[in-house]
Amino acid sequence: MNQDTRVNSAQDAQKSQGDATREVTPPRDSDWIAEVSHELRLPIANIKLLVETLLEGAADDPSTAMRMLERTRQEVERLEALVLDLISIEEVAGNRDNVKKRPAPLAEAARYAKESVGKAAAKKSIVVITEIEQGFTVNANPDQLNQVMLNLVENAVKYTASGGEVIIKSGPKRGCFSVSDNGIGIPVSEIPKIFKRFYRVDRTRAPGSTGLGLSIVKHIVDLHGAKISVQSQESKGSTFYLQFPEDG
Ligand code: ADP
Repeated sequence: MNQDTRVNSAQDAQKSQGDATREVTPPRDSDWIAEVSHELRLPIANIKLLVETLLEGAADDPSTAMRMLERTRQEVERLEALVLDLISIEEVAGNRDNVKKRPAPLAEAARYAKESVGKAAAKKSIVVITEIEQGFTVNANPDQLNQVMLNLVENAVKYTASGGEVIIKSGPKRGCFSVSDNGIGIPVSEIPKIFKRFYRVDRTRAPGSTGLGLSIVKHIVDLHGAKISVQSQESKGSTFYLQFPEDG
């Protein structure tokens, strides 16, 4: 395990409070608008090209038409994923002064995530296992805890090969839990960057990915004064550790 590395994003955030605060801001600064526009431009350009090619005659050949429509569907799904993630960011940012925390049952967040990824996991024969102590709670906004859990479990499924395993575990201490997978892992040099918005280790790895999931996780973690760290080894898997404060 000597290749493993841990990066504490909460410490990074503390070191650069300015950055952390700016990241939570909804799309009002020009950098953010430029980044979003850039991300939206590619799928829109691809859809335009595909539709034009179909209109110019490609639709006459049924198999070409089907292939192009499938590509169009993938691009539309990508746009949809982007918009949904942007809405989540807006919601998190909108609630930042009023995070309504309460002891939220971890098992409920795990159930929500497990149900949401059910289809995708079944398609790849990936099992999602929960090892949660009975009555275990996390002092958090329950909706935001659900979101954190969903984004981590979704990634675990997305970046794990067929037949793999995802484990959601409570502990070892109060307020702590982890999400692990035995998937492709993250190169050591990339780990410090994965919480940045729109950052993807390899854009060809998962076509439906937006690069926003972990930045949303980090926003929520920061809002709760919590910590997140990652341990990963390429081809072996990744574990995301969360530590939420016990009170407040
Ligand atoms: P997305 O998954 O939509 O690309 P995220 O912000 O959730 O965006 O993740 C950023 C990047 O971190 C991903 O593109 C992927 O390269 C990497 N990553 C995240 N979770 C995992 C994981 N469990 N295993 C391997 N790589 C991961």
